[in-house]
Amino acid sequence: MSLAYGRPYLAIPGPSVMPDAVLRAMHRASPNIYEGELIDMVRGIIPDLRHVAQTDGNACIYISNGHGAWEAALSNVVAEGETVLVAATGRFGFGWADMATGLGIETQIIDFGRQTPVDPARVFEALKADSGHAIRAVLMSHVDTASAIRNDVAAVRRAIDEAGHPALLMVDCIASLACDVFRMDEWGADIMVAGSQKGLMVPPGMSFVFFNDKAAAQRESMKRVSRYWDWKPRADPEFFYQYFGGTAPAHHLYGLRVALDMIKDEGLDAVWARHATLARAVWAAVEAWGKDGPLALNIADPAHRSHAVSALRIGAPYGAQLREWTDKKAGVTLGIGLGMSEPGDPQGTGFFRIGHMGHVNAHMVLGALGVIEAGMQALGVPHGRGGIAAAAEVIGKA
Ligand SMILES: *Cc1c(COP(=O)(O)O)cnc(C)c1O
Repeated sequence: MSLAYGRPYLAIPGPSVMPDAVLRAMHRASPNIYEGELIDMVRGIIPDLRHVAQTDGNACIYISNGHGAWEAALSNVVAEGETVLVAATGRFGFGWADMATGLGIETQIIDFGRQTPVDPARVFEALKADSGHAIRAVLMSHVDTASAIRNDVAAVRRAIDEAGHPALLMVDCIASLACDVFRMDEWGADIMVAGSQKGLMVPPGMSFVFFNDKAAAQRESMKRVSRYWDWKPRADPEFFYQYFGGTAPAHHLYGLRVALDMIKDEGLDAVWARHATLARAVWAAVEAWGKDGPLALNIADPAHRSHAVSALRIGAPYGAQLREWTDKKAGVTLGIGLGMSEPGDPQGTGFFRIGHMGHVNAHMVLGALGVIEAGMQALGVPHGRGGIAAAAEVIGKA
């Protein structure tokens, strides 16, 4: 017997759960791509994207996953042979650095490990030491999806300013946009990258780069920008096809239109509050389970935990066994541990992640937590009692 029959729940940190309304909007014949409703719709999407990013700056859309947005952002403001400073707090920080290296960019990496946030003082020191201003940009993740750490973007901005350094601040919000509070203009990010398949609830395949006038000016100083990734025609198109460097991703755009409407209807503040409450429910369950067993949240300080994803240590081989059990026996697919190798566990199988981003509500999170507890029961993983009660209390009191 399996208890997995029924609607599955892909509780991984992206792709996230696609709302039926998004999928329905995409299920249609191709529209006219030369004139009419698609063109009008895209004009309306741009201000709504800006609202979600909390910016009055520029927004452009790429037909790519998040890796494409990484490359796009770098390609517009950093040339081969120039230098970036990377503040890494997990696998995705190193991923962006690796993308830069592949583009022939020199990377100076500050590794903050997998459990502690970016320390702005170390960014300050690194920039102070760069008296010739060789560093063109500081790269950081708002949320690193591997470690589930949430970094203080505004504090890094202050460090750059206090150092009197002209480097741009480039922020990866692929995991956090429309999940964790993010205010691009107020916090002073010059460039921000995001993807469609996480908080924005649309299938993978679209990514977004937001940039301010300072970043636009740095783009103008580039000798050459890769033609396809050039953000200029996309952010300020004369012709419709320039938004996309070619054929529009029509169906994704229909999905995105509905997703942005859903965010607008709920209200961005309410979206953020929902994610915060659901995250606290997860934390409460894990803390209760961890009182009498190996389970622990990867990030000790709640102030630095993501509201979109939780990374949990359970110890090898339990992590892999639990994911297998919840997937096969109960219809909940949990995320793998990423970049979490340790001595004795090179694959990082002692970790798993719960995605609680996007189109997720109380019954889904409580359900996933209940399944995790059942899995620990079935596999004989020691755990403290009262995890589900603790999570329910968070939900009940909210
Ligand atoms: C998912 C993610 C990426 C990579 O996005 P892809 O669409 O898989 O290329 C990069 N950074 C962060 C923080 C992410 O969560």
